[in-house]
Amino acid sequence: MRYRFALKAALGIFGVLMVAPAPWAQVSSAGHAPQTPAPQVVPSPWRGVGPVVPCVLPWGGIYACPPTPVAVAIRAGRLFDSINGTMLTKQVVLIQGQRIADVGPDGSVTIPAGTRVIDLSQATVLPGLIDSHDHFMTARGKMTADQALLVATKRLRDALENGFTSLKEMTSHGNGYQDVTLRDMINLGVIIGPRVQVSGRGIVWGGTTPRPNEKPDPELLSAIVVHNVEEARAAVRFEVDHGVDHIKLYPVGGWKFSPTGELQFQETYPLEVMQALDDEAERLGVLLDCLVDDVGHSARPNRTQPLCPPRPIAFESATSTCASRASFGT
Ligand SMILES: [Zn+2]
Repeated sequence: MRYRFALKAALGIFGVLMVAPAPWAQVSSAGHAPQTPAPQVVPSPWRGVGPVVPCVLPWGGIYACPPTPVAVAIRAGRLFDSINGTMLTKQVVLIQGQRIADVGPDGSVTIPAGTRVIDLSQATVLPGLIDSHDHFMTARGKMTADQALLVATKRLRDALENGFTSLKEMTSHGNGYQDVTLRDMINLGVIIGPRVQVSGRGIVWGGTTPRPNEKPDPELLSAIVVHNVEEARAAVRFEVDHGVDHIKLYPVGGWKFSPTGELQFQETYPLEVMQALDDEAERLGVLLDCLVDDVGHSARPNRTQPLCPPRPIAFESATSTCASRASFGT
């Protein structure tokens, strides 16, 4: 059936929250985060503790390998089709490992012998939710780096357990590349969380000459400040070298409304800098993420009108370059 293929694609992308055969996202094997180093499986018993398979982290240290994914079939009494916006009934979702292998009306999906069957015939099954603009790390302040890491670990688990199977993180909020570490730990099955794509520190425009209040960042925690094309290219390379999945940019700022209600904002990067960022990102095979929304970034917390502007695709400026091949947090 036609919808079957579309729905399969949607579920395959989103995953199914409550029926994942293993609680880890394990995205490295699915190709979502190739930067995560692979663990090494130790071919020996683990100190007599039973049938636990030991793995060695890429950085050393032994832990229990994530369980091998198994085939699972879910009988869904109701299944939300997020593509067509309809609620289907009496569906079967077949999962092989980390992927949706098939989905369709009960009786039309072949369930292989030995497959674990989860009966949700009295329940409603949703595709996994995606948060496309997430900050699971708390901005540095009174919280220490260790505290921020531990809080983020809980947030990631909470996100998965509340239905979010994919998160796009839009900078670590002054926590350097700890988001990369957390992504890798999820991928390796060390901690529990959704599929995560991280952007590290982000890149901001600092003007053509450093401002008097521009502070050095020897610990490499805050956004990288660039002042010219060369620095822009180097910043993209630096981010990629540190394992980010995408590049977070801030092409506009200073949001406000005119007295007549017109949205006003300022562009940041000069066009040649924006093009250099884009060019370097494309050369290295990563996407740009351009902050064009307002959520959490408004200078007018008591605003009465939404600040989300139209996508700046029509602008003959730096932002149009960003829009040409970027994915947007919303
Ligand atoms: Zn944000």
